[in-house]
Amino acid sequence: MKLTKFVFAIMFATLMVSPALAQDYFFKDKAPFDSNIPTPEEFLGYPIGKQHTRHDQIVAYFYKLAEVSNRAKIEVYGYTHERRKLVMLHVSTPENLNNLESIKSEHLKFVDPNQSPTNYNDVPVFIQLGYNVHGNEPSSSEAALLTAYTLVASNNPEVTNYLNNSVIFIDPTINPDGRDRHTQWANQFQAKSLVSDGSDAEHNEAWPRGRTNHYWFDLNRDWLLAVHPESQGKLKWYHQWYPNVVTDFHEMGTNSNHFFEPMKPIGSQDPIMPKENYEDLNNMFAPYFASALDEIGSFYYTKESFDGTYPGYGSSYPDLQGGLALLFEQASSRGHIQDTDYGKMTFAFTIRNQYVSGIATIKAAVENKAYLREYQQKFFKSAMTKKAPTGFSAYEFGDAYDMNRNKAFVDYLLKHKIKVYKNGGKYTVPLKQPQHRMVQTMFETYNKYRDSVFYDASAWSVANFYNMDYRGLKSANLGTKVTPENNIVTVAKVQPADYAYIIDYDDYNAPAALYYMQSKGLTVASAFKPFSIKTSSGNKSFNYGTLLVPVSKQKKSSQEVYKIVSDAQSKYNVPMYTTDSGYSLTGIDLGSNNFRALKKPKAAMLIGDGVSSTEAGEVWHLLDTRVHMPITKIQMRSFRGANLGKYNTLVMVSGSYSALDSIQRQKLKDWTSKGNTLITIAGGSKWAIDRKLVKEELTKKPKPKKDEKPKAVERKPYVDAGENMGRERLGGSIFEVDLDLTHPLGFGYRSKTLPVYKNNNVFIAPSKSQYSTVAKYTKNPHIDGYISDTNLNTYLKPSASLIVSPLGRGRVVMFADNPNFRGAWYGTNKLFLNALFLGNKISVPTERN
Ligand SMILES: [Zn+2]
Repeated sequence: MKLTKFVFAIMFATLMVSPALAQDYFFKDKAPFDSNIPTPEEFLGYPIGKQHTRHDQIVAYFYKLAEVSNRAKIEVYGYTHERRKLVMLHVSTPENLNNLESIKSEHLKFVDPNQSPTNYNDVPVFIQLGYNVHGNEPSSSEAALLTAYTLVASNNPEVTNYLNNSVIFIDPTINPDGRDRHTQWANQFQAKSLVSDGSDAEHNEAWPRGRTNHYWFDLNRDWLLAVHPESQGKLKWYHQWYPNVVTDFHEMGTNSNHFFEPMKPIGSQDPIMPKENYEDLNNMFAPYFASALDEIGSFYYTKESFDGTYPGYGSSYPDLQGGLALLFEQASSRGHIQDTDYGKMTFAFTIRNQYVSGIATIKAAVENKAYLREYQQKFFKSAMTKKAPTGFSAYEFGDAYDMNRNKAFVDYLLKHKIKVYKNGGKYTVPLKQPQHRMVQTMFETYNKYRDSVFYDASAWSVANFYNMDYRGLKSANLGTKVTPENNIVTVAKVQPADYAYIIDYDDYNAPAALYYMQSKGLTVASAFKPFSIKTSSGNKSFNYGTLLVPVSKQKKSSQEVYKIVSDAQSKYNVPMYTTDSGYSLTGIDLGSNNFRALKKPKAAMLIGDGVSSTEAGEVWHLLDTRVHMPITKIQMRSFRGANLGKYNTLVMVSGSYSALDSIQRQKLKDWTSKGNTLITIAGGSKWAIDRKLVKEELTKKPKPKKDEKPKAVERKPYVDAGENMGRERLGGSIFEVDLDLTHPLGFGYRSKTLPVYKNNNVFIAPSKSQYSTVAKYTKNPHIDGYISDTNLNTYLKPSASLIVSPLGRGRVVMFADNPNFRGAWYGTNKLFLNALFLGNKISVPTERN
């Protein structure tokens, strides 16, 4: 053992000068290798660790392996936003790969609760090695190259035993777009004489950095929400194969070592997960990682941190599919070599730890094959028999007014293979189904926790994200089964009109249809009061916000107007009506001043250093992919020279905005005062208050009463400081607000109560204008997730969720919560879109006292 460490230490030291030795550094003990298979070094022209490997090079190497070896096959499971390939290399013995379809059908019998095979040891175990979900945590994809080579080329009995007993699926880069941003960065700043100084540019990426995908979303949160093609492709793949073991490789701070599971035992566990997963399985695997890392002299830790609670991580979603998901975290060299408190750490060193943990995973899975299979079988069988703690047998949901939001939610559930039925206008999801625990995940809410410190969100009842009106049922009539093919919205095709078109604004897609019509040159008005009128489909009542296209007021012929309106309908499936008279049955007539012609939004958003890239990405993604509307992304460094006169709406998400000096803040104020709309979200709202852009306040702690003595400081153990302070952080929970349905920001909603997502400690006091607190938390606002008593009672309850503050002739629309969280909050997107489309029509009335 000592000798091994010594030999490795020498190789480590000579790594940079001796490429021949370089590969031995990683996998010498896996010899002999088939010389017909090119090593990664031979293929790439440099030893692994020498530079960062681009995703296309990784894919090319995998294609090469599949071409030269009958131990490997390659599959493309999707494309990223930037059209990079998402690939999965299947590796096993040639016999297994030739029989893969029949092995797969044997394997799938174990996940089918209606079958009971017992040949646990006969079927190869399915292992899915996933790498590099965070693009700027690059060591793992390099390890993927080494792992693929080892499995394809090694003739060592240890490796052939793995292949006989498993099928290994290697996804080398879960997030190729992010990886290549970082790869480009690290390689372009690499010097011939390596610079280990952490202050060097090589070690400090530019905004938005490579962690996230094209739209700056964290894909390691998207397994649950399935917003992006990377996760959608992965889920589709996943539900064809149901692997027994899944890895998720990450990097952490440069001064850490290496982490493997078990995670922190309390507070990091999803309450619906079988305890066996956290306890038995993790304890079964941990010794394999420990001994493999001990062998090469690497240090590591377990049990103290990280979190398996949120079900949308790569290291938690597979746990909800009867698999064992494993998190690895490696200290990052972030660049090719970096100084640490223990001396210099090379990229190659970080790659080797990931490689060793990956191989140890295969060993552990193969040696415990029968146990893992039986566990997965029990997991799915128990789904059919277990009772939900709520006592419900099904959930019923469905919005009566918004078919496209219903459709989106149902499509979403189907991506997770949840069975959905339709009975009349309502949808039903039974709990007795293989995806029982996913149903719980989507609908159950919690207010009691084993612990209170969360790494991320503590609420994920996705039904609330979609603002689905839902209830639990003790018994249910299911109705007909819903499939992706029959889950379609059909609207009556709009007919040509000479007088006016009336367009439903309750629909999720209405703002997109509105933008389409505006961008084609139509003037569209919004109803600031409800009305009912005789339409070509009979008498109909219309809600606040209903859109009106008055034909004779357009600068186009009625045929041209019809083409635009009907194209908008075919694109977005929004209910549309026609009328030949402006005279209403009740409420406002079509010529009323309460119809306000809307301005087309000309929107910009500040991005760059000091701005939350994830929140900015959420805005960009919403407008770009759902509304199909451009937004100019202005870099902070360009703001000084930017001509704001080109825009009527500006978005500021959370951020420090420290680069905006007093002159630039004045520029922002002057621009808003001219009648424009500034939209601030969460930290952006706090910034506007702190910088006195608006005359609003944050919610303060009540002052102590006159004769109250200040409390003495309570003494507490030093070691508890982190945990105690963590409890006051609001990591992500769901609250109920009371919405003013008559306010333009509340248009298109039918219910006064609405769930909102809060993942910040920004608490805004209600507006000073009686008419401008658009949404305020209700008396009992808690819906789902953790919040401390102080945050709930002292700060949240008295606060507003959404206000409008006047600024000259303009206004600042201030969100305390995040209406666009992770691209999945269909329920609150419209609040944000209303700010964009209706913002310029909002005034802030103030009554004199
Ligand atoms: Zn990570």
